[in-house]
Amino acid sequence: MGVHRCRKCAADSVINMPQHRLALCAEHFMEWVEKSTLDFIEKHRMFEPEDRVLVAVSGGKDSLSLWRILSKLGFHADGLYIDLGIDAGCAYSKRSAEYVRKFARTVSPGVELHVLDLSSVYGRAVPEMAGRRAGGRKKLCSVCGLVKRHEMNRVARELGYQVIVTGHNLDDEAAVLFGNTLRWDVEYLVRQAPVLPADDLGLVKRAKPLARFYERETAAYAIVSNIDYIQDECPFSKGATSLRLKEVLNSMENGSPGTKLQFYYSFLRARQKGIFPGYDRPALQACEKCGQATGIPGLCAFCRLTAPEKATSPANCG
Ligand code: SF4
Ligand SMILES: [Zn+2]
Ligand SMILES: [Zn+2]
Repeated sequence: MGVHRCRKCAADSVINMPQHRLALCAEHFMEWVEKSTLDFIEKHRMFEPEDRVLVAVSGGKDSLSLWRILSKLGFHADGLYIDLGIDAGCAYSKRSAEYVRKFARTVSPGVELHVLDLSSVYGRAVPEMAGRRAGGRKKLCSVCGLVKRHEMNRVARELGYQVIVTGHNLDDEAAVLFGNTLRWDVEYLVRQAPVLPADDLGLVKRAKPLARFYERETAAYAIVSNIDYIQDECPFSKGATSLRLKEVLNSMENGSPGTKLQFYYSFLRARQKGIFPGYDRPALQACEKCGQATGIPGLCAFCRLTAPEKATSPANCG
């Protein structure tokens, strides 16, 4: 802070980004983030000005910053908050919802916030769906991911949105890429992209307009834009593998600024050239109940999870 001068106006900088050799003051940093987001949206053909965009908001810095940026850029972007029912002794979901509701009142007039309370709709929230003892945190996070993906898609389809956007940043994407590469998980690698197209089985297009920004940049944007966000992470994120992967990448980044950006961008270029020729997506079919894509005949994983008999099934208690 203050050591570097803004490259555009020579005022004190609020951020220095060695990987871009760029230091900027608050005003020019906000301008740079918004312009770079627009360039990234256009480069990857994420959506068009006439599209209705649904922003998945969690109450954290990334998703609220994304909502603010899209509104400032003039896109029609509404919010979706899914109340996952995570309490963990700190009322996490309830507190997150309060931040989202408060923030929604500051976005452009006419913008809507949709709130989906899983307990009201399905009678159970994520911790109950995952079962109390089975599998611990890993199981809980995998159920949570499944529920979020399914419900975001369902809401977007039902309400006629053309694209769902999430606030994943470069640190998130680089950590996922690192994990997938360590396992050479080709199925995930071919599907890791800043934009995933809609498909004929009702999958709504998905995009990550902030995937080119480091986490410290999205945090700085939230701070200089006076966005009041929940600073606590989900209590179940502690000990997650993704955090360890982020630590390794951070230590490499410290020694060599730009490592994460290069890792991610080089992958995107290779992916575009067809890094895994001959790979065929597994055959998918429509779920008998909800119509969303599933790899196995019958009900999709979400509909099996939320089927009424599951609530009393012994398998759910083990
Ligand atoms: S860390 Fe929390 S929000 Fe993230 S997947 Fe796990 S339970 Fe869900
Ligand atoms: Zn400046
Ligand atoms: Zn289904």
